[in-house]
Amino acid sequence: MTQQREVDLLVAGAGPAGMTAALVASLQGLSVLVCEKSGQVGGTGSTSAGTLWIPGNHQSRDAGFSDSAAQAETYLDALVGNTSGRELRTAFLKTGPAAIDWLERNSALKFLPCGRHPDYRSNMKGAAVAGRAIIPEPFDGRLLGADFAKLRPPIPEYMLFGGMMIAKADIPPLLGRFKSLANFAHAAKLLARYALDRLRYPRGTRLTMGNALTARLFYSLRQRGIEILFNTSIAAIDCRDGRVAGATIAAADSEICVKARKGVVLATGGYGHNAGYRKAFMAQPTPVHSMASEFNQGDGVAIGEKLGARIAPQEHRRSGLWTPASVTPRADGSKGLYPHLLLDRAKPGLIAVNARGERFVNEAVSYHDFVEGMFDANASAPSIPCYLICDAAFIKKYGLGLVYPGAGNLSRLLQAGYLKRAETLESLAAAFGIDGEALRRTVARHNGFAQTGIDTDFGKGETELNRFNGDDAHKPNPCIGPIATAPYYGMEIWPADIAVSTGLSTDANARVLDQAGQPIAGLYACGNDMASMMRGSYPGPGTTLGPGMVFAYRAATHAAGKEPLEEPIAGA
Ligand SMILES: Cc1cc2nc3c(=O)[nH]c(=O)nc-3n(C[C@H](O)[C@H](O)[C@H](O)COP(=O)(O)OP(=O)(O)OC[C@H]3O[C@@H](n4cnc5c(N)ncnc54)[C@H](O)[C@@H]3O)c2cc1C
Repeated sequence: MTQQREVDLLVAGAGPAGMTAALVASLQGLSVLVCEKSGQVGGTGSTSAGTLWIPGNHQSRDAGFSDSAAQAETYLDALVGNTSGRELRTAFLKTGPAAIDWLERNSALKFLPCGRHPDYRSNMKGAAVAGRAIIPEPFDGRLLGADFAKLRPPIPEYMLFGGMMIAKADIPPLLGRFKSLANFAHAAKLLARYALDRLRYPRGTRLTMGNALTARLFYSLRQRGIEILFNTSIAAIDCRDGRVAGATIAAADSEICVKARKGVVLATGGYGHNAGYRKAFMAQPTPVHSMASEFNQGDGVAIGEKLGARIAPQEHRRSGLWTPASVTPRADGSKGLYPHLLLDRAKPGLIAVNARGERFVNEAVSYHDFVEGMFDANASAPSIPCYLICDAAFIKKYGLGLVYPGAGNLSRLLQAGYLKRAETLESLAAAFGIDGEALRRTVARHNGFAQTGIDTDFGKGETELNRFNGDDAHKPNPCIGPIATAPYYGMEIWPADIAVSTGLSTDANARVLDQAGQPIAGLYACGNDMASMMRGSYPGPGTTLGPGMVFAYRAATHAAGKEPLEEPIAGA
């Protein structure tokens, strides 16, 4: 059965990028229809940490963390390269702070400054230690009413007690709940709210991180009456007289031909689960794990390609934005992925080794750079997978992956093989099939670094970012401690993409470009469907969501025939 619809703008995908585009278009006066392939909004964004990298943002400035977009420009020139595509970076830097303020004024989006949250190459010129990252304010999921069920939940690995979300700021009070009255009160309040929630809801309703971001967007869309068609995919674009006139969208038993007067926005989240594109664009050996929503199958990129769009060129390095991940055993018998973003790798008393039992990377670098280190090392020694190695004292104090600090009973994770334990380093190495004698030597050398505080091999603990994720209280180096208290523990680690970098080339208004570099009239791409302006590098926390939302704003504003807000790129 084929139906006909007519709107100003059709948006494909209801992740952060698509929902931002739909919201902005509606606020700019356009009629909007959103089609979403899955039965829920949120996409990978719902399962993310929800941080946005917005240099020069006003939320941080107002909280006393000065930052300079001009410095960020210097940093990006050094990190990404002063290449073609620089005009996208300029547009992003000019529009970012103003767009975020505008969204805050006109919707339920609200952001908090992260304060100290160093850029990921914090030793490069122009990098910031504080002030560039913002996060969504926690959101009360109860405000969504019945729509709460239509919000994609976080991954189970990110929830406590099977359904409780916490924010990064909740971690110290929860871990130190018996250390002060204030901590105890905070922890008790969170737990009481969660207990109450579970009487009525399948999970906690105090939403944080990426779930707060997508909930706030969804709530804003609902407030404006923007229609979302669930379980409906964009299937093909209708192109007439050299201009996109609409698209066919498909549900299980029907098709709708949508005439879209102002165009179509592709925001289908990139190609994380498209085997062909993974093989074509990513590093070799092609990584098998993706943390993207399973619905992200490269539909937007394929549609663009069919229309003759230019796919971002090869300078996109390995095409993924990575995290080291352990493969988790889930309660329902399925497997999940735990992203080792920041809680364990940089803490003192842990090393990463390859199959030769040798270190190959500074364990405290960003999650992206850690995986880049795996690929680099793999060229000369098998380093995919690699192994995180620590001792009993470490795991008790800091935890490891799914093992929370202070966790008592590890038997389920040991039985599942997620975690391995042995009385000696040699037997731990044997359990992984790695060189035991070499592992013993590597640990002995590393224990020497723990005494001097200087890692002469990889410089662990030398950057602001390393130290930020280390343990301030540990001396002389917050990231290096001895591995000496049996039993010893280890965990297998794989590369996984949290986002992809290769996508459809666009101009600064997110208009998709053809092979000649000319915009395909009426076709926009944002989020992971758009080639990342970072070209495969990862400057800081929020590298994908910041640009994803800013270019969604610019795309919708352009479709509405308006000028985007811009501010001069200001110095400090
Ligand atoms: C654990 C984790 C933590 C992360 N933390 C951060 C962070 O703090 N900051 C940051 O910047 N990034 C982070 N990311 C990455 C970030 O989540 C993604 O880059 C971001 O969600 C991409 O947004 P998007 O809107 O392009 O895609 P998505 O959020 O994946 O949304 C795409 C939507 O499109 C839908 N869709 C797919 N195909 C179709 C189709 N044919 N038709 C209609 N709809 C379709 C999908 O179902 C989905 O709902 C993290 C990722 C993970 C996994």
